[in-house]
Amino acid sequence: MLYDIKGLNEECGVFGIFGQPNAAQLAYYGLHSLQHRGQEGAGIVTSDGDDLFPHRGQGLVTEVFSEETLTNLKGHHAIGHVRYSTAGGNTLENTQPLHFKSRTGDLALAHNGNLVNADSLKHLLEAEGAIFQTTSDTEVVAHLVKRSKLDTLEDRIADSLARLVGAFAFLFLTEDTLFVAVDPHGLRPLSLGKTPDGGIVFASETCAFDIVGAEFIRDIEPGELVTITEHGMSSRQYMEPRERAMCSMEYIYFSRPDSIIDGVNVHTARKALGKKMYEEAPVEADVVTGVPDSSISAAIGYAEASGIPYEMGLIKNRYVGRTFIQPSQELRERGVKMKLSALRGVVQGKRVIMVDDSIVRGTTSRRIVGLLREAGATEVHVRITAPPITNPCYYGIDTSSKEELISARLMPEEIRQEIGADSLEFLTVPGMVDAIDRPFDGPLKGQCTACFTGEYPTPLGSLELEAKL
Ligand code: AMP
Ligand code: SF4
Repeated sequence: MLYDIKGLNEECGVFGIFGQPNAAQLAYYGLHSLQHRGQEGAGIVTSDGDDLFPHRGQGLVTEVFSEETLTNLKGHHAIGHVRYSTAGGNTLENTQPLHFKSRTGDLALAHNGNLVNADSLKHLLEAEGAIFQTTSDTEVVAHLVKRSKLDTLEDRIADSLARLVGAFAFLFLTEDTLFVAVDPHGLRPLSLGKTPDGGIVFASETCAFDIVGAEFIRDIEPGELVTITEHGMSSRQYMEPRERAMCSMEYIYFSRPDSIIDGVNVHTARKALGKKMYEEAPVEADVVTGVPDSSISAAIGYAEASGIPYEMGLIKNRYVGRTFIQPSQELRERGVKMKLSALRGVVQGKRVIMVDDSIVRGTTSRRIVGLLREAGATEVHVRITAPPITNPCYYGIDTSSKEELISARLMPEEIRQEIGADSLEFLTVPGMVDAIDRPFDGPLKGQCTACFTGEYPTPLGSLELEAKL
């Protein structure tokens, strides 16, 4: 099929800095604080005003960079990327930022998100003679920029961005300019900050500002393109904003609790999700426990609302990577087992409420219910502070393919049996939206809820996506 939609599984973090001495070092710290967004590859490209200096590699930020490599990344401007991908795409050439050299100057690009129409654009570009070096859909954008006939690079980037369908936060770096853009729905977060020395900083999450001592200024708006040169910063709409649709999973699972997305602190949102969970599905029990790390805030919220004490019923070995990175089901199950232990002293003889943020394949919940029972829990009540994930994400969050999603196959009662819980409840979509309480109007308050409802904010069908160059 020509217009194939990939559920490409990329969860990434981006960081950019302009007009700041030691840009590479700060990008390194920034990326380190975004490490939870991707652990498979990292890269930084810097500019000293005349040339670009790239360094990329597979692995964690601390593995990819050394003091020596950072010293070689010269200049006052930098963009960086941490990457997560599942089977197939994890190769060095797909590690970002991508770096393209041309007669008219170099261009480096870092992308967080996923383009739904990348394949159709790629076909058309290849038909015109473009040769792709990577399998990453991000490269499509570089080709679009290259083939655009408009006068300025800013216009060429704006023109290219307007042809994309999907979710993106993009950073583009040339020798002397940083361009930054977000998709017209604002599906992926990107914030702007300032360092005390006057450097301009961009990051997927505001937690990266804290580590480099930058002050948060504002979020990048849907459809906005920001251009920064040594003469200052300007902003334009490369496209009219569409209905706002920030990814719900950023609040529920993905972002760090200390980050603030569109004015809502992630920890506060998770606590409110836990409180809402209690309101929607109370149950009698002795202790509430959360699955580390992402569900602790929600479990505290549930405990506070219910008056049932919060206890550390599970602990995590910090030195094992995320469960999802193991590619096979068997390895994933072993991954869960290696990562978590139940505290017998806390749960033995107790009725336990186990709060987790989401169920994707059901592997984690089943294992944890088992761990709690092995440690002597008399009852295990599972509370999931998100609605059932019944649809895949095409916008860059790895919620798996439809066949792997347990909630796409089974009803909650069947899932309860499968994971061996005494009770299982999910949040409702209105409950979730109400709890996160984003400062926007409308029934979804500017949230994407597609993986729960199947109502995608962008077109997905092949005809709707027919690309035009
Ligand atoms: P599963 O075991 O497949 O049901 O996955 C659910 C667990 O994975 C939950 O504990 C979540 O915290 C976590 N999780 C949810 N979404 C993602 C994601 N996109 N990438 C990695 N982990 C996730
Ligand atoms: Fe986020 Fe789900 Fe929307 Fe994907 S489909 S962007 S995971 S809310």
